[in-house]
Amino acid sequence: MQTLKLKEGIIYGPVNSRRLGFSLGINLMPTTYKLCTFNCLYCHYGWTNIHTGDAMAHLSDFPSVTQVKEALESWLVSNRTPIDYITFSGNGEPSMHPDFDNMVEVALQVKEKHAPYAKLAILSNSTCFDNLKVLSGLSKLDIRIMKLDCGTEKTFLKLNHPCKNVRFESVVENLKKLDHIKIQTIFVEGVVDNTEDEEVKQWIDYLRYIGPDEVQIYTLDRPSAEKGLAKVDKEKLHQIAQRAEKVTGISVKVF
Ligand code: SF4
Repeated sequence: MQTLKLKEGIIYGPVNSRRLGFSLGINLMPTTYKLCTFNCLYCHYGWTNIHTGDAMAHLSDFPSVTQVKEALESWLVSNRTPIDYITFSGNGEPSMHPDFDNMVEVALQVKEKHAPYAKLAILSNSTCFDNLKVLSGLSKLDIRIMKLDCGTEKTFLKLNHPCKNVRFESVVENLKKLDHIKIQTIFVEGVVDNTEDEEVKQWIDYLRYIGPDEVQIYTLDRPSAEKGLAKVDKEKLHQIAQRAEKVTGISVKVF
């Protein structure tokens, strides 16, 4: 089976998301390639084309603040479809956009005017907020769903394939800086397995250290870049959730 096609524009959906209900997507990334600080084996957009932390080298390929404002406003004015969330996601890591903080400001203004009932969210890989402007943008969102897939650097390197300069410890420290986050974790087996006992133990220790409001765990439900990955069965996911809840006292939901 093929991985998903990249988003062809700025606004997409709304999609009926397991975790966010009806969610209208905002893609801040280029539309002809995937740009990301990670190259996750499970990515449903396939392999990362531009694997970097240096978004400035691709400046002309990003949408401008005005383009995003107009695209969101136009969709909200001309559609009556009810939405629960407006979510930054799409062809890579949304917080890599060089003007991310202003994008959040503009999306908030447009949302307040045309869809005040909706919440503003992000699905992020937690790598970009040593930049204070990114941190500022993230702090204005209603919901921050941040990725932490592993308990060890070894598995992080194999599963998420970070670009150079992105260290596992700095991802953890980034997550610790933000209040009221939700952690998202995908569990997989096969060529990489992050369900092993020691891996899960260390992941739980990091959850306790970071202190999110909630943890969301799930497994593959779409074709992934790497074909040698396998789904984890639901019973095992529930066992991991119960174990993490018992140690941390944090709500861990299985999706
Ligand atoms: S962080 Fe997200 S977009 Fe980037 S490679 Fe991983 S799954 Fe794909």
